[in-house]
Amino acid sequence: MSEQSCAPAERGILIIGLGLIGGSLAAALKEAGFAGRILACDRDADEVTSGIDMGLVDAGSTELAPWVAESSLIVLAVPVLAIEAVLRELAPHLGDQVITDVGSTKGAIEASVERVFGDIPPRFVLGHPIAGSEKSGVAASNPALYRRHKVILTPRADTDPDALARVRVLWAACGAELLEMDVARHDQVLARTSHLPHLLAFSLVDTLARQDERLEIFRYAAGGFRDFTRIAGSDPVMWRDIFSANREAVLGALDEFEAGVARLRRAVTDNDGDAMLAIFDRASHARQYFDTLLNQTSYQAMEQRNIRYRVTPGGNVRGRIRVPGDKSISHRSIMLGALAEGVTEVHGFLEGEDSLATLQAFREMGVAIEGPHQGRVTIHGVGLHGLKAPAGPLYVGNSGTAMRLFAGLLAGQAFDTELTGDVSLNKRPMGRVADPLREMGAVIETAEGGRPPLTIRGGQALRGIRYDMPMASAQVKSCLLLAGLYAEGETRVREPAPTRDHTERMLNGFGYAVQRDADEAWLQGGGRLTASPIDVPSDISSAAFYLVAAAITPGSDLLLEHVGTNPTRIGVINILKAMGADLELLNPREVGGEPVADIRVRHAPLKGIDIPVDQVPLAIDEFPVLFIAAANAEGVTRLRGAEELRVKESDRIQAMADGLAILGVENTVHSDGIDIVGRADASDTHVEHYSGGHVDSLGDHRIAMAFAIAALRAEGEIVIDDCANVATSFPGFVDLARRVGLSLEEQEAS
Ligand code: NAP
Repeated sequence: MSEQSCAPAERGILIIGLGLIGGSLAAALKEAGFAGRILACDRDADEVTSGIDMGLVDAGSTELAPWVAESSLIVLAVPVLAIEAVLRELAPHLGDQVITDVGSTKGAIEASVERVFGDIPPRFVLGHPIAGSEKSGVAASNPALYRRHKVILTPRADTDPDALARVRVLWAACGAELLEMDVARHDQVLARTSHLPHLLAFSLVDTLARQDERLEIFRYAAGGFRDFTRIAGSDPVMWRDIFSANREAVLGALDEFEAGVARLRRAVTDNDGDAMLAIFDRASHARQYFDTLLNQTSYQAMEQRNIRYRVTPGGNVRGRIRVPGDKSISHRSIMLGALAEGVTEVHGFLEGEDSLATLQAFREMGVAIEGPHQGRVTIHGVGLHGLKAPAGPLYVGNSGTAMRLFAGLLAGQAFDTELTGDVSLNKRPMGRVADPLREMGAVIETAEGGRPPLTIRGGQALRGIRYDMPMASAQVKSCLLLAGLYAEGETRVREPAPTRDHTERMLNGFGYAVQRDADEAWLQGGGRLTASPIDVPSDISSAAFYLVAAAITPGSDLLLEHVGTNPTRIGVINILKAMGADLELLNPREVGGEPVADIRVRHAPLKGIDIPVDQVPLAIDEFPVLFIAAANAEGVTRLRGAEELRVKESDRIQAMADGLAILGVENTVHSDGIDIVGRADASDTHVEHYSGGHVDSLGDHRIAMAFAIAALRAEGEIVIDDCANVATSFPGFVDLARRVGLSLEEQEAS
């Protein structure tokens, strides 16, 4: 929908209650270039006069009637308990206006609407901007108040779609991000995340103030007190209204809080240091995780930022670097560590958003996890049957691996769970795991088209199956083997082509026997996992960008340290070698069941090849950057048998083909691959083969990084849009790129 940029097409917008929230809405609409009239009604004539003087509203008064007919959309921005009276006054004058509100609670307001109108008219769309401040009144209006903030709408099944669309446009014009949920969920969520903290802040300040009538104590108050109690400066009337209007949900949240305080009190009374540490550690990490959300560095928030890379050509690639830990192994280390008996120490853990989300999910299921601190994580395993039901849905961010592996292990739990991800993950197919899991006896509900969220019903008796995978997918295989831990009998998976075997290796490392013969892997249910230390190798998928960077750039000599060289992952090495790259594997060794080596790569002229079909699954994530190698190789490189690439974070074949075409690299797309026409003469290091240009990564981190590498050999600057997701899979990519010699600037585009 293009609602993001357009100003509302309303004839007139009437704001009833011109305070902070109403005034800021008017200011934001003016700034967005709203062409209609903004009208205001407030019981305080001075507020309306101020609004007109400030240029926020075109006309208004303390009377309602004169302005209703002039408006096509009405926004109720009065305190929650004033809404019913305003609606009674409004009702006789109403025509076909769309009506919305900004009230901080929704159930009470819906009840008011029902009392006044007998039902909820379809053109009523209740809403709540999650933005505000302790200030009130129109003088505090801020046109940027809603920018990048969420607005929750609570439409009903019979809400008029046109009315809903118009309210969405209203808020989108103010720069807000829209969410929809039902009224009850809104009130519960807000009771916990907003109302309870305000209640506690008011109470703490009042308690201290009562103890010290002259308020002397506040002179000694440290930063902690100030941070914790800032919100106690909020408007008392508004908060009285909110607590009255959302009483049930607030009391429920308060009960949970009191139980939590009682637990902590007990730990302090008993001087139980372990219990205190467990609580503080869980809280401290939950807070850090929440911080990344708050700072808009992750998940949905990140998708709204447009981080742009500008990479100038030239430079060579030299030095010695260690890229971050392998994502697949980091995920699995947390999963198996949590399900093992004993304490698992992990080193080299990838502190990316995705693996942190996995870690957080296990904390929510009651597993005590210390760290991560500089790649070190300590997991206090709870055993295969020790997980506890989480309080809410488990959020796995952007990680397809996490969602599919979780689906397997959660299918065997005694409790229900809901698995959800960010907007892009929620579009990806999950039927490929849900269907075989159902064959094992799991009960799983998906959204339309087999997509997330997944609801997994606990307490099912799983039975082992023999599954012939229709596609070569390590995620599906791992999912079924993890479910197999909980199944009766043998779970056996056959793969049509070799896929990554990290799950099998790590299960064996944790003392759980997984057998392997030719194209089949199998295990018996009902065993146990024993904690085992894990030193996570560097991720070959991340190393691949630098392998290609050095391979295509004259004068390069780069050493990549401690890279995982699992045979199911080294397609990129095999393919680059077949293209003529100068790669050496030094000091090969084995770490925790996984082979590791240092890789030295120097420039050598590359030649186009027909990529061997058996290498395709072994290099599936590396193709974006291999396409850049192909563009720099002499002759044509042909890829087939890679239809899997079309259902990754983006349709990677099409997205890469489009970007390459912008740079002037000739290519032909096939249903399962691509032909890329490389250079006429790769040994001529002076002539560049393609131009600069402006490409869109479509939010796909690997495409963004691939085009950054391409710039080393471009004739002009390459600008890449939508690169925020790079931080998810490869924290530190930009710093490392600069360290080895790329001229990469990172900008926030508007
Ligand atoms: P505010 O600055 O106090 O503004 C409310 C305005 O409404 C005041 O000018 C008030 O006049 C006027 N008003 C009260 N009763 C009225 C009536 N019967 N008819 C006409 N005008 C009336 O409050 P606010 O912060 O903007 O909050 C307004 C709404 O936004 C509330 O429902 C609140 O729950 C919601 N909200 C607030 C925040 C926040 O952080 N502030 C965030 C999200 C949502 P008087 O000054 O004469 O009372």
